[in-house]
Amino acid sequence: MTARRLPAGSRLVIASHNPGKLREFAQLVAPHGVATVSAGALGLEEPEETEPDFVGNARLKALASARGAGLPALADDSGFCVAALGGAPGVLSARWAGHPRDFDAAMARVNREVADAADRRAWFVCALCLGWPDGHSDSFFARVDGSLTWPPRGTIGFGYDPMFVPNGAAHTFGEMPHDAKHAVSHRARAFAQFAAACLG
Ligand code: IMP
Repeated sequence: MTARRLPAGSRLVIASHNPGKLREFAQLVAPHGVATVSAGALGLEEPEETEPDFVGNARLKALASARGAGLPALADDSGFCVAALGGAPGVLSARWAGHPRDFDAAMARVNREVADAADRRAWFVCALCLGWPDGHSDSFFARVDGSLTWPPRGTIGFGYDPMFVPNGAAHTFGEMPHDAKHAVSHRARAFAQFAAACLG
């Protein structure tokens, strides 16, 4: 089924309260001439992520914001998956950082639990969902593969970026300028699918 397109001049809600994701979405949306507003700026609450998978949680967040705002809303559910941990932290990536969020502690936990496992493979995944006030939704999914490094390096990104080196690169996501991360990242790849299907 073809995705429902955003008409030119639409306002799009970015259904996230995560400052790192909001910044990346602003950079990704900018070339498409779509006006965006964040869920936080509209006073929308972030729903609890009760689904067992990324696509389900992205859809839940997109539809909650779309219904709350009466506008189309784009939500992201993403996470960091480590082969030696059977894909954890995965959907629990944000929760591993506790409250308030402490990603130095979350990265230290990953490193501690991986210990001296020979398998250093890791990947980020991103599910994106465009939800509409009438309950329609279209979802997109992408991943980027790489490996773990320790100690963490770089201060440019967010979350688990400083301990992840994408395949073929020498630097961590935390050391890469924004454009270099967007050239390969899970979020940029899912966004490219969304843009092709729904924008312009
Ligand atoms: P959620 O999608 O709000 O459940 O949170 C996903 C979590 O995954 C974020 O809080 C980050 O910890 C992590 N994450 C997702 N995407 C990235 C990324 O591009 N870099 C680093 N960490 C990320």
